[in-house]
Amino acid sequence: MLNKLKEMGKLDETVQALADARETLWINPRGMENTFDETITQKDIDETEARLQRFAPYIKKVFPETRESNGMIESPLKEVPKLQKALSDMLGYTHPGKLLLKCDSHLPVSGSVKARGGIHEVLKFAEEVATEAGALHEQDNYEILAEDRFRKLFSGYSVAVGSTGNLGLSIGIMSAQLGFDVTVHMSADARQWKKDLLRSRGARVIEYPDSYQKAVAEGRKEAAGNPKCHFVDDEGSLDLFLGYATAGRRLERQLTELSVPVDSEHPLFIYIPCGVGGAPGGVTYGIKKVFGENVHCFFAEPTHAPCMVLGMATGLHDGIAVEDIGLDGKTAADGLAVGRASRLVGKTMETLLDGISTIDDYKLYDYLKLLADTEGIYIEPSACATFDTIARVMQNQAYLEQYRLTDKIKTATHILWATGGSMVPEDEMNHYYSLASES
Ligand SMILES: *Cc1c(COP(=O)(O)O)cnc(C)c1O
Repeated sequence: MLNKLKEMGKLDETVQALADARETLWINPRGMENTFDETITQKDIDETEARLQRFAPYIKKVFPETRESNGMIESPLKEVPKLQKALSDMLGYTHPGKLLLKCDSHLPVSGSVKARGGIHEVLKFAEEVATEAGALHEQDNYEILAEDRFRKLFSGYSVAVGSTGNLGLSIGIMSAQLGFDVTVHMSADARQWKKDLLRSRGARVIEYPDSYQKAVAEGRKEAAGNPKCHFVDDEGSLDLFLGYATAGRRLERQLTELSVPVDSEHPLFIYIPCGVGGAPGGVTYGIKKVFGENVHCFFAEPTHAPCMVLGMATGLHDGIAVEDIGLDGKTAADGLAVGRASRLVGKTMETLLDGISTIDDYKLYDYLKLLADTEGIYIEPSACATFDTIARVMQNQAYLEQYRLTDKIKTATHILWATGGSMVPEDEMNHYYSLASES
C-alpha cells in the first residue's frame, strides 16, 4: 500500500511519519476555508438540543445525579492553572493565555463524551417508537416515559451497537433504563469493568477477540435481519454526530459565565482526542458553527492508530486503514483503538479542522499523573492524548504566522477536552497512575 500511495503522490512527510509510528503534527491545508456541510445545519443541531430538553424531566427522574442540572447531561468547564504551568515546564514552551479543562470525563450517566451522542441517539429512537405507538406527544411531560407501560412497549424493540467500550456504556445504560432489549458488541480493547457494569444494568454483552471494526460489523449484522432492532452505527451515524454537536452552544454559554471572550483578538483553541471521529467531529462541528474562524480545533490520536489523520492527509478517508500502512492498530488508549475513520466525519472536517497530532502511548500515563498531581482530577489514558498538542501548535511558527496568531496567543484560551474517566474503578485508575514514567 505504501508503494501505491507513493505512486498516487500521497506518500508525503506526514504519511511517512504515520507509517513509521512517529509522533507528528499534521496541519490541514484546507483548515482555513471554514465551510460547512450543507446537509448538517444549525437548525438540525437546535432541534437536537430541543429534543434533549424535552427528555430532561425523564432523565432527571431516572438518573438522580442529574437533579442539579435539571436533567441536562452537561459537564463543568474548569480553569486549570497548575496544569498549565506544569505542562509548559515539562514541555519547555511558554504558555500565555488561559487553559481550561472541559470535564466530559465527568458527564453524568456514563462518564465520557459518548454520553452526548450515544444518549441522544437512544432517546431519539425511543421518541420515534413511542410517538408511532400514539403513546407520546411532543408537548407531554416526558417524565411519563418512566412508567411501566413504556418499558413494556420498548421491551418489544432492541438496540445494538459495536464499541471499544465507552459508546457501549452510553448506549447500554440508556437503552436498558428505557426498557429496550440491548446488545453491546465489544472489541478486544474493551475493559472488563465496562462489560461487568453493562451486564449489571441488564445489557447483553458479546465479546470478540478482534478489532473495533469487527464488533461494529457484528452489531450491524444482528440488526440487519430485524426491523425492530435499531443499530447505532458509530462509523457514520448522524444522530450521534448531532448529539455531540450540541456541545457548541453549551460551551458558548459556559465561556460567557466564566467571562472568557472569544473573538478575533481572543482566539479559542480546542484539543480533543479522536478514535473513529464521531465525538471529536461532532463537537468540533458544533463549536465551529458558533465561533467560526475564531476557533482553532485540533484532534489527537495514538501513533499506532492514527486513522483520522491518515484518512484526511491522504484524502482517502474511510478508504484506507492503519493496517494498510503497516501499523498494528494497538494502543493503550482503548477509546481511540480504531483502525479506520468514520465515513461521515473526515469529509465533514476537510474544510473545518485545523490539524491532528499523534502521541506515543507511554506518555498518556505521564499526563494522566500530571493532571492528577496538579489539579486532583483523574481521567482515562485516552483522554490525555491531547496534552502535548498545545505545545506542538504553539511551537509551530508557520501555522501561527499563516493564521496571524503570533500576537494573539497572549490573549488566547485553550481547552483540553477531557473525554472520559470518572467511571473507571479506583484500582484500575491507581494502576494507570502507577504506569507513569516519573514518580
Ligand atoms: C470514544 C472516545 C474518544 C473518541 O471518540 P470517537 O468518536 O471514537 O472519535 C475519545 N476519548 C474517549 C475517552 C472515548 O471513549
